[in-house]
Order: sequence, then structure tokens, then C-alpha cells
Amino acid sequence: MTAEDRMTVLEKRDPRPGMTLAERPVPTPGAGEVRIAVESVGIDGGVEAPFYRWAESFHRYEPHLPQVFGHEFAGVVDAVGPGVEDWTGGERVAVEPRISCGRCRNCREGRENLCTTETGFSPHGRKSIGIDTEVQGALAEYVTVPARNLYRLPEGLSFDEGVFLELLAIGVHGLDVSAFAAGDRVAITGPGSAGLSALIAAVEAGASEVVMIGAAADEGTRLPIAREMGAAATRTVGEGPLDEPVDVFVEASGHESALRLAESSLRPGGELVQIGVYHGADRVPVDLNGLVNEEIAVRTVNARRATDWHRTLSIAPSVDLAPVVGPAFDLTDYEAAFEAEADRAGVKVVLHP
Ligand SMILES: [Zn+2]
Repeated sequence: MTAEDRMTVLEKRDPRPGMTLAERPVPTPGAGEVRIAVESVGIDGGVEAPFYRWAESFHRYEPHLPQVFGHEFAGVVDAVGPGVEDWTGGERVAVEPRISCGRCRNCREGRENLCTTETGFSPHGRKSIGIDTEVQGALAEYVTVPARNLYRLPEGLSFDEGVFLELLAIGVHGLDVSAFAAGDRVAITGPGSAGLSALIAAVEAGASEVVMIGAAADEGTRLPIAREMGAAATRTVGEGPLDEPVDVFVEASGHESALRLAESSLRPGGELVQIGVYHGADRVPVDLNGLVNEEIAVRTVNARRATDWHRTLSIAPSVDLAPVVGPAFDLTDYEAAFEAEADRAGVKVVLHP
């Protein structure tokens, strides 16, 4: 491949709704980097979808346009840069999107999800492939990434399923850092990719029962998928408090009504695991006195660590991930894909560059 080779990307060019197919030079991997031929890339309802719609929270990108997003992806190692020894080309891989330094205290203590060196454009100061203004994303035929961000895709897993691994690792992370123990009863709000990941992780870790709670709009597709993935029961937030308190409550929806439900559904001494981010809300009221009275612990979870990837890669081959990936679209069919995401078709809409 020469420097003159061109590739197709899907870029946000102008500060208005939509994206545009464009041509760019194929990137060359730098020192410590590899180039990935992207096979599948997901649309995140909290990142690519609002960026596509040009939601107000993304207007700060205006001076940096055009931008190529795409941070959930899998593909094949296509070329390696200087100093890369662990990859030669041709390997099927999933990719950790968050960039970390490997040297700061958090990285060295195994919390590379909270790296304090690689700060970027995100309001929370973290740098991610396909979200940061300086790092081109995977809504493209090729993308270069740090070699340390690669994980080999287990045999038998498709590239679409590979897209879901970084999401599954969030659920694994949430269960791992909580006080969850085998035999516990678990409730989860939000049957999107984060909530379903927590469901898979809880079932794999030996929960006695998992209840998945969604919005009324989830009754058609996502709650049935939750039952298929091992939820013992499903219900909607509108149905009110649970009949029986749970030991661990995973809030993965980012809706205040779900947080209220969590406060009223935990057993005394239980634990709230907060994965959902409350988009559009600066602050969210919490009944702290109520939590103190019942000695309920609160554990927040952000992204995933290398240890979560390793556990995820070990459980993924034994889980049927087909219900949580797709529908799939060709990159050139991106308008239909973003429409499907907006219509809550399936759980993880993916594009094939
Ligand atoms: Zn670091």
C-alpha cells in the first residue's frame, strides 16, 4: 500500500445533522501503532448517534470539523509501525478505544481506564480513538491505533460480535468491582448494550436471579432480548418498586426514574452500581440520607480495564451474542443505519466499511 492509496470514511463535515462519505489518504501507522482494516464498527447511542444528529452537547466540535468518529470496532491487523513486536499482520482483533499511557499511577495500578496522562478533548479529559479531535475513528476503511489497545478476537466470534466485546467488558467491570457474590439477586435498569452486558456478566458470575427493567419503548425488542440472554423476569420502570429487594442494583440507563427505583429496591446493606451517564443533566439528586440509613454502597463504573478485557475474552465464546449485535449495514448505507439506531432496532447497530 502506498501513501497515495485512498480510503472511504464517513465524516461529519458541517455543523448540522447528518454525515458525508468522503475520501482520505490511508493512514500510515506510527511508532508503536498498527493499522486496522475495519470490518465492523458500532453506533453508540450516546456518542456517534447524537454527533450524527448534531445534538447540542456536540456543538463544541464545530471548530474541529471535519471529524471521523467510530470508537467501537473490530477488524484485521493490516500493517504494523516501527517498534511493534507482538503483531505481524492478519490477526483478527477487537480494540480498546481508550488511549492510556501505561506509565501513570492509575495505569500502573491496573486502572488504565482512568489514565491521567492521556487527556483529550472529552469533557472528562479522557482520550479515545474516534471521539478525541486528534484521533481519527473507525467509521472508515482503515484506522491506526496504539498496538497496546488490541485484543485478539477469540475463534468463532464474528467481527460484529467483536464490536460488542468492549461493551461486555463494561458489565464485567461493574460486577467485578461491586460486592456481588454468586447467589445474589440482581436488578438492572436499561436494556441497552451496557445493561445487557451487566446481565450477561451477572448470569456468568452466578446470580441467582436477574430482573431487567426497561422503558415502555423497550417492551417490543430489548426486554425480550434480555429474557433470551438470561433475565428471569422483565418489567418496566412504570410498574414501580420491585416486589422483592435485590442485593445489587445496576443502573445502566442514565434516567432519574431508574435511580429512584434503585434507591427503593435495594436490600439494606446492598449496593448500587452506577454505569449509566445522565446526559443533559449537570447534577442528579440522590437520596443520600436514605442510602446512609440503609447503609447502601454506591459504586461508579467507567469504561473497562485490561483485567476486564481478559475476563470478557474468556467468557464471550460461551455466550451467544447474536441477539445483541445488529442489524448490520454497509458503511455507504449509513443513513438507514442511523435511522435504525434512532428507532431502537436491535441493541447494537453496526456498519461494515
Ligand atoms: Zn496512564
